[in-house]
Amino acid sequence: MIVVIDGPAGSGKSSTARAVAERLKIQFLDSGALYRVATLIYLNSQNNGDSFFDALKESDISFYFKEKKFHVLLNHSDVSDEIRAMHVANAVSTVAAMPEVRAFVNALMRQAVQSGIYIADGRDLGTAVFPDAELKFFMIADLDERARRRLSELEAKGEQTTFDEVRKNIEDRDLKDSSRASDPLKQADDAILVNTSGLTFEDQVQMISEHVQQLIAKNA
Ligand code: C5P
Repeated sequence: MIVVIDGPAGSGKSSTARAVAERLKIQFLDSGALYRVATLIYLNSQNNGDSFFDALKESDISFYFKEKKFHVLLNHSDVSDEIRAMHVANAVSTVAAMPEVRAFVNALMRQAVQSGIYIADGRDLGTAVFPDAELKFFMIADLDERARRRLSELEAKGEQTTFDEVRKNIEDRDLKDSSRASDPLKQADDAILVNTSGLTFEDQVQMISEHVQQLIAKNA
C-alpha cells in the first residue's frame, strides 16, 4: 500500500511524511533523496570525465528508513548528509529532468514498495510513478516560509548559506521541476490539497496521520 505527498521544494512534505511514518510505524520513501544521489553521481562523473549514464547504471544504490532518518548508500557508503549540500541542490533539478534518470529512479522506487505500507514524498508520485496510490496529498506553502524552513534545516547541519541563496534555489528548482517535459511537478486530480502556511507541523502530521489510519483500517 502506498500513500504519496507531492509538492514544491520546502513545502514540508518530507518532514511530514517522515513524522507520519514514525507515528504509524510504516515505511518512508524520500524520492528527492534518490534524485540527489543521482546528482552526486553526475557531479562525480563530471569531475572524473566518466560517462554519467554508465556511472549511474554501475552504481550500487540502497536506502532504508531508521530512527527518523532516511539513509541513502552509494556504493556502500552513507551519503545521506552529503546529498543535502547546496552544490547538490543547485544541480538536482537539471539532473532530475533527464528522462533516463527518471526511469532509473522510478524503477528503484517501484521495486522498493512492493511489500509493506509506505508513505513517499516527491513531485510526480501521484501523477506518474504511483498513479494508483490509495491516498494522495499535494502540499504547498508560501515561498518565503519554505525558504525560512529550508534555511534553518541547512544551518542546523552547519551549511554556510543565506536566506537569499536558499530562496533562489527553491524558486529555480520549482520553475525547472514544474516546466520540464518529463513528469513535471503537478497536483494529481485526485490529490488532497494541503496548504501548510497557516498550519503548525503537529497539525499537518495529525491531519495526514488520520487519513492514513482510516485507509489502513479500511484495508485491514
Ligand atoms: O524533495 P527534494 O527537495 O529533496 O528533491 C530534490 C529535487 O529532486 C527536486 O527539486 C526535483 O528536481 C527532484 N525530484 C523530482 N521528482 C521527485 C522528487 C524529487 O524531480 N519525485
